[in-house]
Order: sequence, then C-alpha cells, then structure tokens
Amino acid sequence: MNILVVEDEKRLADALGQILREQKYMVDTVHTGTDGLAYAESGIYDVVILDVMLPGMNGFEVISALRKKKVSTPVIMLTARSELGDKIRGLDSGADDYMTKPFEPGELLARIRVMTRRKGEIISDELVLSNTVYRASSNELFCSETGKHLQLSNKESEMLKLLISNPGRIISKEELITKIWGYDSEAGDNNVEAYISFLRKKLHHIGSDCSVITVKRLGYKLEAGNA
Ligand code: CA
Repeated sequence: MNILVVEDEKRLADALGQILREQKYMVDTVHTGTDGLAYAESGIYDVVILDVMLPGMNGFEVISALRKKKVSTPVIMLTARSELGDKIRGLDSGADDYMTKPFEPGELLARIRVMTRRKGEIISDELVLSNTVYRASSNELFCSETGKHLQLSNKESEMLKLLISNPGRIISKEELITKIWGYDSEAGDNNVEAYISFLRKKLHHIGSDCSVITVKRLGYKLEAGNA
C-alpha cells in the first residue's frame, strides 16, 4: 500500500511518515503543492494525504488538477483551519475526506483503512476456498461439492469477503467493525459475534468444509478442511 504525504510543516510530515511506516505502509513525503501534484499524478498511490496551505500550489489547486487529469486516487485533505467553507471547498474540488489539524493519528489511520477498502474491493467475481465459493455479483454462497447455495445479506457478504480473501489470517473484531460498519459506527463486539454466528450456520447449511475459527482474545479466521 503506497501513501503520499504532501505537507510543508516538516515536523508533522515526518511524524506522519513515521506513523504510517509503523503500519507497514510505503510512504513518500513531499513539501510543496507542485511536488505533490507531480508525485500524485503518477497514479501509484493508494491514498494521498494533502495539506491545504502549501507553497507552490495550494491543496485545492492540487486536487483540482489531479481530478482534471483523471487521477482518482482517494485524497484526504488536512487543514489547520476548521471553517466550514474550507471543508466544502475541499470536498467540492474532489477530496474524499477531510481532517482538521490537530488530529489523532488513530483517526487518520482509520480513515485510510476506509479509503483503501473502497478502492480495493472485489476484482474477480468469485472468491474460492476449498469447496466454498462466494459470488460477489449475486451475494451468493455456494458449495462446489453439494451444489447447495444460499443468499447472504450485505453485512454477511462483507464479512465473508474479508475472511475468505485472507484464509488462515486472524482478523480482529476491531478490523471487522472498521471495515464493515465504518470507523465512526456504533457497532460493537456483539454485532460481530451475531454475524459470525449467521455465517457459521450458512456455511454449515451448504455443506462447506470451511470453518470460522474463534481465536481467543484475537479475533477470527477462516480455515478449510475443518468440517
Ligand atoms: Ca501547511
């Protein structure tokens, strides 16, 4: 995952770079609007974090130029000012999100996760693990051995997508909540538990040999061959 930080306050730019690298993102940092545009134009970034007040070109100009060039990379704008006018102007010029400085690093990270989830959604229609197939176009769960299939609700689909694209990886409740309900939702552990239980029933019903395993205190993982 590549992130571009465009911020002229060097101390903040460095701090952001460090926080993001700790999360295993690849980060490039530039300090002027002109450089920001030149880097972002490459289209190699998954997210651009863009300050408003910048030397060279300001953040609004950078994002307008980017969108004019059909670069659709998600942009999170940063500004020291909290006026509503700035926010509207930022979103009008094509920003995807907006944060007012100072902000909590955790909040920025959560917003980045939401942005990258949007971009990274399903490329192929079918996700397969062992005898179990999830078909994205119809939200359908299907067992290639028994031929049984079932419809999933939107939330169940989101959850299954995440589990089946990361077989064997432990996914925390927090990650499930952020990716499925959004970072500012009021969903809690009990929502996750309820949907995990729906999914287990449906997997069992179609004759899937995959199981959602609870890993105590850490989260859940999907594994094949446990039926
Ligand atoms: Ca600035």
